[in-house]
Amino acid sequence: MMMRNKPDLEGPVADAPPRLGAVELVPRLKNQGYSRELVAERRRWLEETSGCELPHVGSFSIASDEMRGNIENPIGAVQVPVGVAGPVLVDGEHAAGTFYVPMATTEGALVRSYERGMVTLTKAGGAASRVHIDENRISPVFPFADIEQAYEFCRDLPGHLAEIRREADSTTRHGKLLRLECRPVGRQAIVNFCYATGDAHGMNMIVKATDRACRWIVDNTAASSYQIFSGYNSEKRASGVLLAGGKGKKVTAGARIPGRVLRAYLHVDAEQMAEMWRHTLTGHLQAGVLGYNGHYANGLTAMFIACGQDVANVANSAVGITTFEPAGDGDLYASVTLPSLTVATVGGGTGQGTARECLGVLDCVGQGKALKLAEIVAATVLAGELSMGAAIASGEFVAAHEAYGRNRPEPIAPEGGE
Ligand code: NAP
Repeated sequence: MMMRNKPDLEGPVADAPPRLGAVELVPRLKNQGYSRELVAERRRWLEETSGCELPHVGSFSIASDEMRGNIENPIGAVQVPVGVAGPVLVDGEHAAGTFYVPMATTEGALVRSYERGMVTLTKAGGAASRVHIDENRISPVFPFADIEQAYEFCRDLPGHLAEIRREADSTTRHGKLLRLECRPVGRQAIVNFCYATGDAHGMNMIVKATDRACRWIVDNTAASSYQIFSGYNSEKRASGVLLAGGKGKKVTAGARIPGRVLRAYLHVDAEQMAEMWRHTLTGHLQAGVLGYNGHYANGLTAMFIACGQDVANVANSAVGITTFEPAGDGDLYASVTLPSLTVATVGGGTGQGTARECLGVLDCVGQGKALKLAEIVAATVLAGELSMGAAIASGEFVAAHEAYGRNRPEPIAPEGGE
């Protein structure tokens, strides 16, 4: 089960003929083809093969050499419109001040809706935002002959923490193994390797570190093999275990909104918001949804695309819980909890042209900024929950989308008719 051989990422096509039966393979170009000329050559090949011209895909300003490590077989870049929402006043431990948030989307009404929530929060005195936990994890699995062996392995593993940590931490300057958590299932032992990953997303970092540690475990304990992924860590998947946190940053944001601000900016009162929340809670329960929120995925996806985050991590980041509660004197207390938010300001796609610019707008470029970004993201998500919740409670939801969010093509006339 343990992988020993160096993977051949050129194969199986590197030495293969350029055809796969009747179909052509994507051309293999010199040094994997990242120069501007070779990217254009590959694009021309696709234009000819597909019969489809690609002038927009071919119009991009990112240095094609910088795509290495982020994409294979590049042909250009897709363009997603980016808008700006704000101002949002954030009172965090890492993010303090007023922010204008870049959001990339093709969903009309989305930016306007977040903007409305942000202005409401700002008029209310701002959104508090806090990072409670900051770690990432990977969960390899060790098979044993029977449950007794799996039990003994789980019992003894904590005694080896120092050696395992030494092995894992030797592969990275910024990753730190925090602890091990055994999760036995039958005669298998799943082990959570929990890491601090600095300002990076960290999956590449901690897979490498954990692989090194697992080899030490196989050489020095009763384990004879391992598989690096068990599925337990829920990377890029929604799961119940994510609700407890541990994948990325656990972040909360909350605000007390005075009744007059609710009425002026969201056209609702606190009791209407609470009633809307109660009614949708039962629907979520009935559907068996993980967590309870209106549309975390909207704001997260728009910010992730703009800011160069791995968009697939919306799957785990969007598991969370929103609350709307009357807070006395006609006020509303609104909160969001994101137990498994994956954001980074270093590594992955964060260094690419547009991502760097959008992170720059938030003063979240590079070292020491990941927690700040997490707090801004949580405040943004809170703004979106407020605005959407209010649109439902006030009955304005459909009208808002009709005003901003339609792109309805003209009906096609039937052949031979008008
Ligand atoms: P990465 O781009 O592979 O590496 C980032 C590296 O930046 C770190 O390993 C670290 O090097 C260095 N670094 C410099 N300053 C840092 C700082 N202040 N804080 C933290 N690190 C710093 O990024 P990654 O975050 O490890 O991985 C993210 C990528 O993994 C995403 O693009 C995602 O798509 C991909 N991914 C991989 C897997 C997988 O299983 N491999 C799964 C899902 C996603 P040192 O380690 O030397 O300190």
